[in-house]
Amino acid sequence: MKFASISHPEKVVSFRDALFTGLAPDGGLYHPVDAPDLSGIVPTLERLPSFQEVAAESCAALLSPEMPADQARALARRALPFSPVLRRVDDRILLLELFHGPTCAFKDFGAQFLAAAMEALLPGETGRIHILVATSGDTGSAVAHAFHGRANIDVVILYPSGRVSDLQEKQLTTLGGNVHALEVQGSFDDCQRLVKEAFQDGTLRTRLRLTSANSINIGRLIPQCLYYLFAGTRREELRGAAPTICVPSGNFGNLTAGVYAWQWGLPVRRFIAATNVNDVVPLYLGSGRFDPRPSARTLSNAMDVGNPSNFERLKEIFQGSWEGMASRIEGRSVTDSRTLETIRAVYAAHGLLVDPHTAVGYAAAEDHLAQGGEEQVIVLSTAHPAKFSEIVSKATGIVPEMPERLARCLRLPKQALLMGATFRELSEFLLNSFG
Ligand SMILES: *Cc1c(COP(=O)(O)O)cnc(C)c1O
Repeated sequence: MKFASISHPEKVVSFRDALFTGLAPDGGLYHPVDAPDLSGIVPTLERLPSFQEVAAESCAALLSPEMPADQARALARRALPFSPVLRRVDDRILLLELFHGPTCAFKDFGAQFLAAAMEALLPGETGRIHILVATSGDTGSAVAHAFHGRANIDVVILYPSGRVSDLQEKQLTTLGGNVHALEVQGSFDDCQRLVKEAFQDGTLRTRLRLTSANSINIGRLIPQCLYYLFAGTRREELRGAAPTICVPSGNFGNLTAGVYAWQWGLPVRRFIAATNVNDVVPLYLGSGRFDPRPSARTLSNAMDVGNPSNFERLKEIFQGSWEGMASRIEGRSVTDSRTLETIRAVYAAHGLLVDPHTAVGYAAAEDHLAQGGEEQVIVLSTAHPAKFSEIVSKATGIVPEMPERLARCLRLPKQALLMGATFRELSEFLLNSFG
């Protein structure tokens, strides 16, 4: 697989270069130059019983010959020891639970694979690299856990003081070792600005090897294709038919990964792009007009995105054709009150607790089926209900049981360096620690 920036398709780079650069030098997103063809291995994948084997075979097919097939298989197995769970809810709806990783959200798939791939592909002679990320909560915890303890990599995470949940803060600040948490007295936008300034600063660029790990990195998208390849090839669970897949979406990385898997040969009947009231993509799918706007706050806050960055990639997959995209992806948006009602109703009918992001997807799937959809719908379940305990208990009266790996975090002491939102303070910290 080779990659190129969407705006300069002639400047082709390797997987490794795309991984370590993150964003192309022209500021564009990396995108596969020639879509790989996996249709030949789909029958093989159908026979593989575990997610790890599906992931290993798919990675071997995708990453070789740049990475030898055996090395690609080993990377997939090492990076992703946890599995998605496909759970049937009723005759029409299945949940694909993606929260069985270390931080209990689907972002673990992308972050863990990115970290393992960087560790594997980091050339010995370069010395240590320094990952710098700004987070509003969930991305940072997945990245912190993924890079914790990796050889020759330091991670610095900037988060806005007082603006992340207690659980998110503990997930960011209790690891120690090569994970450094900076508690910034400012907003998430301040954190992002500081990271941007650091990447542009001449002194830091010569004294350190700064690298990003944010959600636009192709190394986070590729592993997300793997759980679609797993779920879409469970013939027995799917009763032999190609499923419709419903994806709760914010920045649209998750949906883009699914559409890649389909483009590369996985049978998928249709996708549903489910959003909260931040519905610029559903509106585009209906009208052909893309009008980004500032995001509104909702209960499914990891999807509060007003200008989704992966929209560029989706457009590229369909070669800019609105008709093409709209014939394959159906857009649906869901209000907060409907989200709460769905959490309540799913619990009442099935005894299952779902988090607010999953509930948005579930409600969208119900609406699709109510309008005459005949098929099976897989709804991606993106976070463990215990991560959004307050909202879930408000809707159902039940407090979700906390997995031990989250409970353990809460018991550990916070270790974070409090700093003002100034570039001077960030720069001093980086040079003193690593320079
Ligand atoms: C990040 C996130 C999403 C949105 O995923 P995108 O790839 O940004 O569309 C949905 N649910 C949860 C729980 C998330 O953390």
